[in-house]
Amino acid sequence: MTLRFSVLASGSTGNAFYIESEKERILVDAGLSGKQMDRLFNEVHVDPSKLTGILVTHEHSDHIKGLGIIARKYNLPIYANEKTWMAMEKSIGKLSLDQKFHFGMEEVKTFQDMDIESFGVSHDAAEPMFYTFRHDGKKVAIVTDLGYVSERIKKTVEDADAYIFEANHDVDMLRMGRYPWNVKRRILGDSGHVSNEDSGLALADIISNRTKRIYLAHLSLDNNMKDLARMSVESVLQERGITIDLMDTDPTNPTPLYEVI
Ligand SMILES: [Zn+2]
Ligand SMILES: [Zn+2]
Repeated sequence: MTLRFSVLASGSTGNAFYIESEKERILVDAGLSGKQMDRLFNEVHVDPSKLTGILVTHEHSDHIKGLGIIARKYNLPIYANEKTWMAMEKSIGKLSLDQKFHFGMEEVKTFQDMDIESFGVSHDAAEPMFYTFRHDGKKVAIVTDLGYVSERIKKTVEDADAYIFEANHDVDMLRMGRYPWNVKRRILGDSGHVSNEDSGLALADIISNRTKRIYLAHLSLDNNMKDLARMSVESVLQERGITIDLMDTDPTNPTPLYEVI
């Protein structure tokens, strides 16, 4: 009956997402220190020892910084695809074999009362992928860390009740900012991050009248601002006649647990 989630933290400094149904309590990524992760769980009143699994999107440190620590501390199973396992093995430290599970790209796995589907994204990591979650006719999709939103991704994530969707940067702020050219090129490129405007354009294609909320995520600290991201996405959507609740996410504070209705 219930599907609830919180964006525990989001941004280039660290990402973590929590989603629960009656039977499942899933963490996606653990990109902050073990101590910070514990603080975030505490703030949303989630007991990390009761988690049923951790899904990993890719091996960048803003997604796995606290992964090994949390998994060892609470003896939790981790799911990732093979290339991601290889890429992160050194940095997450020792895990016992019964904590390591495989979650392939473009795969649907059933976890008790939740169906989770993975999909690949274009991003400069080994084999980055994100997820949709289905429970009791409800659907939630996380889409961050991608250079562009392909037609294939749009098909997979369309028609969800809620989105956690990347709005990484304002293109002008990035162009005029202090980043060296090669970094700018990486962010703007096909395997970097989605801009505010491209985020709005993609969302206009995929949301439906079933969609209630969009959480704008993975904002760049240097090249974006919450108000700017919201206004940019909002204006693209408005041009297409769409009005919808846009929610902020924060690099250090969790969003209140939201129940998808
Ligand atoms: Zn990231
Ligand atoms: Zn990344």
